[in-house]
Amino acid sequence: MRDTVDLKMAKWMPGYYQIMDYAKGVTSFSALDNKGKNLPVARPDSNTWRVSGIINMTFRVRYEIKADRRFVANNYLDTTHAYFVPEATFLYVKELINKPVQIRIKVNSPWDKTATGLDSLPEKANEFTTSDFDMLFDCPILAGNLEELPPFEIDGIKHRFIGYNLGSFNKIEFMAKLKEVVKEGVSIFGEIPYKQFTFIGIGPGYGGIEHLNNTTVSFNGNGLDKKESMNSMMSYLAHEYFHNFNVKRIRPFELGPFDYEKENRTNLLWVSEGLSMYYEYLIVKRAGIINNKEFLSELEGNINALENDSGRYYQSLVQSSYNTWIDGPFGNPGKGADKSISYYDKGAVTGLILDLSIRNATENDKSLDDLMRLLYNRYYKILQRGFTDAEFQQAAESVAGISLSREFEYVYTTREIDYNNYLSFAGLGIAETKDGLNGKRRLSIIKLENTSSIQDKIFKGLFGD
Ligand SMILES: [Zn+2]
Repeated sequence: MRDTVDLKMAKWMPGYYQIMDYAKGVTSFSALDNKGKNLPVARPDSNTWRVSGIINMTFRVRYEIKADRRFVANNYLDTTHAYFVPEATFLYVKELINKPVQIRIKVNSPWDKTATGLDSLPEKANEFTTSDFDMLFDCPILAGNLEELPPFEIDGIKHRFIGYNLGSFNKIEFMAKLKEVVKEGVSIFGEIPYKQFTFIGIGPGYGGIEHLNNTTVSFNGNGLDKKESMNSMMSYLAHEYFHNFNVKRIRPFELGPFDYEKENRTNLLWVSEGLSMYYEYLIVKRAGIINNKEFLSELEGNINALENDSGRYYQSLVQSSYNTWIDGPFGNPGKGADKSISYYDKGAVTGLILDLSIRNATENDKSLDDLMRLLYNRYYKILQRGFTDAEFQQAAESVAGISLSREFEYVYTTREIDYNNYLSFAGLGIAETKDGLNGKRRLSIIKLENTSSIQDKIFKGLFGD
């Protein structure tokens, strides 16, 4: 029988690959026995509170948490709303992490709504339950006077958009477009793996974090009446939505079950983030939101960012993924000698190269979609685990039916990318100019003349027209 229990605060939140040390925000910690008497509390390390004297007894702990930074990976509270990151809010006991949890939120303000991916208890306002702490940590909570946009259903599954301070824009048009985005995401896999999905707009700011049945996104609807802003908003939401498949379900081996107390390093964030970036373009293109020219210009953006980054001579995609805990999510550009790259940029470019290679090897019979489906079916549904670096390459090669060892050099090494070779598969090429003012390279994707029927077929496969 144990006399002590260790209560822990997570050090990071999955989806934001940086050590946040949430325990720093905890103050005024006390533990009380069932008669309201204080129990001894020790601090064996910076994120642990060790409570003693608890044999055969229920006990209570009280603590305050800091909630002063408006950011998707931090708690924030003011008089108008509250945003709680569960990892930064709820202490957990390591040995009990697989046990069900119930939470109750008491609101002292005249706030009317709570948005979260958690299941609510029947007949009880603001009381929620989850199967375990992993699910609790996967469901941030937003409370306040929130606005809910008219939901839509796909295959009988409800999709909601609810948020704080959404701004003024054409909400009917917005939801109609979002529905097309979700439809295109779902059609890649042919099924919907959740009971309901909620987009949670946490207010103006930057960044979003993906979860199994929800995504929390910084959101400001003012300005969405401009076509360009609407398009980039849809692209951003497509990215966050696609993550429910790619990273939450199709995932690197190391990203689950999580260890909340240390860095969970993986070589494969380029798959989780870079391919999600490639897919955000594909999805908005397939949804009819952007045209071919805009699709290509998104890819040119990634190509130019990479080709003007000297970090590409030093750091491979796998190194960039592995080192993100030190370098930050976008590498470390402009800071000292730039020896890091962004796995978003090179990952998206590599997504294009793999897609073109698979299409070329199979006469456009197969594509990157087949690879994503294979990973979803084999690793998420059948094996119920993540894939390793080698398994990802094997899966890609089995879809292509050929060795892709040359293409994977772009993943494992710093070899310069032969754009013309891969773009030519779709009857495209690359043209380069130099910006006279700052000497930056400017690469553009161009259409080749006199293309073959296979090139035309691959172009059509990729662009749909
Ligand atoms: Zn992402």
